[in-house]
Amino acid sequence: MPGGVIIASDPARWEWLKSAWAVFQSVGIETARLVTPEEIKQICPIVDVTGVLGGLYDTNEGHLDPYGTTHAYVGAARKRGADLILRNRVVELKPRPDGGWNVVTEKGTIVAEHVVNAGGLWAKQLGRMAGVDLPVTPMEHHYLVTEDIAEIAALDREVGIAVDLEGFTYLRQERNGLLLGVYERNPKHWNMDGAPWDYGMQFALWGSVLADATVCIHAAGWLKAASASPSSN
Ligand SMILES: Cc1cc2nc3c(=O)[nH]c(=O)nc-3n(C[C@H](O)[C@H](O)[C@H](O)COP(=O)(O)OP(=O)(O)OC[C@H]3O[C@@H](n4cnc5c(N)ncnc54)[C@H](O)[C@@H]3O)c2cc1C
Repeated sequence: MPGGVIIASDPARWEWLKSAWAVFQSVGIETARLVTPEEIKQICPIVDVTGVLGGLYDTNEGHLDPYGTTHAYVGAARKRGADLILRNRVVELKPRPDGGWNVVTEKGTIVAEHVVNAGGLWAKQLGRMAGVDLPVTPMEHHYLVTEDIAEIAALDREVGIAVDLEGFTYLRQERNGLLLGVYERNPKHWNMDGAPWDYGMQFALWGSVLADATVCIHAAGWLKAASASPSSN
């Protein structure tokens, strides 16, 4: 884990981070601590700490490969007797007189005592199949993936994750470049009635994200130095 730091460049944010740290201490989270701008520079050398008051750092912050993680869960479930059927959409949920469910899938019907709605982006439609209107909606969100950045490639360690709420951004290392997420200042709903079933790796329009990215006050220095690929969701 490379660790991660939330940065404060505004007095109110700095107070908030200090109170968050106090809460962490009271519940026994010992991996978190307050850090100075100089320490932030050590944790994530590409951050411009001009005007930064401090940060809240946790050594346990990090990221993982979602594909590998999911398959680790699958492996554990299989050991406990579970079957895995890939690429098989649930198309209908029918309540049974015994209190269970007939789960109608593209490859046949499965009888289940309980059904867990883990449909993610499609959870709303799955809820409707059971007569439940879940108050959830997808939101547009964008991130940028840069090409390699020489300063990062030269490091012998992974840079820490940095979250800059005044700069509306979070970032982590991706290969020898960066992945920069942008907290949209104008959040937009997307397909409020439910995402298309075949939605996958398509890119959404990313015109507005660059406008948001230009306010990334602490990231601006390296953003000029790196070109971004149109990776968005
Ligand atoms: C590009 C991108 C980057 C992200 N980066 C981060 C990050 O850095 N950190 C972070 O914490 N989060 C990140 N997120 C958010 C994170 O991926 C989601 O919050 C998380 O995956 C939600 O998990 P989930 O299990 O609820 O749903 P999902 O991972 O969306 O899984 C839902 C599953 O249900 C299946 N499904 C849906 N409908 C049906 C049906 N009718 N029949 C059968 N199967 C069905 C889908 O195929 C899918 O496999 C990112 C998301 C995206 C899109």
